[in-house]
Amino acid sequence: MTQKPAHDRSLALGIDVGGTNIKAAVITRGGEMTALVRRETPAKSPPHVVIDQMLSIARELIDLSRINPGMLTGIGISIAGFVTSDGKVTATAHLSRDFIGYNLYTALHDKLPQNYYFSLDTPAPTLGEAYFGAGRGIDDFAYVTVSTGIGAGIMVRGKYFTGGLGWAGGVGHTIIDENSERVCEGCGNHGCLETFAAKQGIITTARELLVQHPDSLIIKLTGGKQENITPELIYEAAKAGDPAACEVFERAGHALGLALVSLADIVAPPRIIIGGGIAQSGDFLLEPARKVIRERAFPPRIRQTEIVQAALGDLSAVYGAAAMVFFDLRINNPME
Ligand SMILES: [Zn+2]
Repeated sequence: MTQKPAHDRSLALGIDVGGTNIKAAVITRGGEMTALVRRETPAKSPPHVVIDQMLSIARELIDLSRINPGMLTGIGISIAGFVTSDGKVTATAHLSRDFIGYNLYTALHDKLPQNYYFSLDTPAPTLGEAYFGAGRGIDDFAYVTVSTGIGAGIMVRGKYFTGGLGWAGGVGHTIIDENSERVCEGCGNHGCLETFAAKQGIITTARELLVQHPDSLIIKLTGGKQENITPELIYEAAKAGDPAACEVFERAGHALGLALVSLADIVAPPRIIIGGGIAQSGDFLLEPARKVIRERAFPPRIRQTEIVQAALGDLSAVYGAAAMVFFDLRINNPME
């Protein structure tokens, strides 16, 4: 896709409202970040509290960047919920249920008039990587976020692919083992990818392995309390060479690889970019996934699919929110 010159000084404000944190930044069209703010999401609070937090962050960023609101091309918003391109939330698993039916555009525009863009938190990081990250320069790729949940954004000929029914890319719910006892809270199926490689799946695997590894560093790092196990902590133990921790990622990465084989076989993207919090564990997760792709994808040409880590860390969605503004991208889903 066409890249704008790095000296372009147009400005957009990107806000990523996740279930845990709100991250927001002022970004130039050339991809330079002029100010960044991170705050905890008041996730269980009613919408107006979250809106007030977003507006307060936006004003803080405008001050930090020494600009006035009129200098912004617009504000892009990525949110942990299904949202129409004109700002109406239709479903959310991570924010208050009061958001369902809530119109973000009206609430925000009343207090801070701007050109607004809205997106679910899968298209946004995909677009961030497309315009500013590991997808730059290629028109066809898939972005897979591995975090509390797992989802894929698919770029086809430079455009975000939604599918005829909308929200294509639900790779997290592809079934890896239908005979598994693990049941997905999201889709209700047994043994979908999320039950093995998303946050809770990884923690479950760690708990199972700790029965055979009572001396694991994971136990020491949790202070002996299994309820303290997190993917970050397992990553710390893996970096120190702890066999149980390495095995946790080996199994999660293998399951991820099986799902990526299906994604690659069907979509044939030359590159798959892995982002989201758990992807910060890098090759501990990615190398087992690459191995499955190299051995099992078909036809053999698909085995060349590159599996790379996201270039923008945990800020892909913030950049994507800004990209929606700069490139006038509105993700419309046919079923809404
Ligand atoms: Zn599922």
